[in-house]
Amino acid sequence: MLLRSSPYTLELRHAFGIASNTRTTTPATLVEVEHDGVIGYGEAAMPPYLGESQASAAAFCAQAAPLLAACADPVQLEEILPAIDALAPGNPSAKAAIDIALHDWVGKKLGAPWYRIWGLDPQKAPVTSFTLGIDTPEVVRQKTREASIYKIIKVKLGRSAESDREMIETIRSVTETPITVDANQGWKNRDDALRMIEWLAGRGVVFIEQPMPKEQLDDTAWLRSHSPLPLIADENCQRLADVQRCAGAFHGINIKLMKCTGLREAHKMILLARALGLKVMLGCMTETSCAISAAAQLSPLVDWADLDGAVLIKNDCFDGTTIVDGKLTLPDRPGIGVVKR
Ligand code: MG
Repeated sequence: MLLRSSPYTLELRHAFGIASNTRTTTPATLVEVEHDGVIGYGEAAMPPYLGESQASAAAFCAQAAPLLAACADPVQLEEILPAIDALAPGNPSAKAAIDIALHDWVGKKLGAPWYRIWGLDPQKAPVTSFTLGIDTPEVVRQKTREASIYKIIKVKLGRSAESDREMIETIRSVTETPITVDANQGWKNRDDALRMIEWLAGRGVVFIEQPMPKEQLDDTAWLRSHSPLPLIADENCQRLADVQRCAGAFHGINIKLMKCTGLREAHKMILLARALGLKVMLGCMTETSCAISAAAQLSPLVDWADLDGAVLIKNDCFDGTTIVDGKLTLPDRPGIGVVKR
């Protein structure tokens, strides 16, 4: 099996602000695997603050290529993907790109989309939220109006209590659509965090993602026992081994392919989270329809989806999962369901 990778820069429609930074592009790497005349597509999307880069992804793919070249049966994902994971620590997005491409290849070889291989009903794919970055009130109002097809709006908070409240009031001046809040570890004091969550609970907020710094797990557990809203782990939950640790401090977890090394591990995380009684959310980075459509294959299994990454970019080079009236709509194509534009 051949493995090819090439850098690709995602251009964002709007400068995107979260609690720690603002940016206008996301570095990505597109991956293809080819064997027996079938090509599988994958993607690594790498916001710089997470530490991977197009150079590190290229280096990891160069490391993985001999393993795939020597692989006798690429359908054996349970053999191949742990071996790729073991090549080097870290590199979760580069690993996810290869995992996605291999899943795409296997699905195409078997002639079925992954939601069918997993036995899922595509009609049960959830609505997806649409994310609003931190911005001026005028831009937030404009973006909120543009987001009118979405049934849930996700808001990035976690700066000062004053600007957090202003952001919510600004959205509420335009729409009553339910809001999910991502604090991105921005609230450092648990009493202040609880006061903010109580205020948000009266304003149509559905849940709070990563309210406090990941190092403050005890404070988060305290917050969980007092919070009127569900708390969802993001920065605290990267991979399968983190799920159990999150069960005592959060009501649920946010799974992203770029954190957890891809579809194989994401599927296992969902099953473990369910066994522990946790809610599950499926999230993304800014990504093309390649990685978004891969994640969407799992979406009939989750409570909430935040898979708007492809509509946030100007240069999506794939067609795949679409969003119709705010709901994820999975194409009837094999593999991860994408074609190149
Ligand atoms: Mg988050």
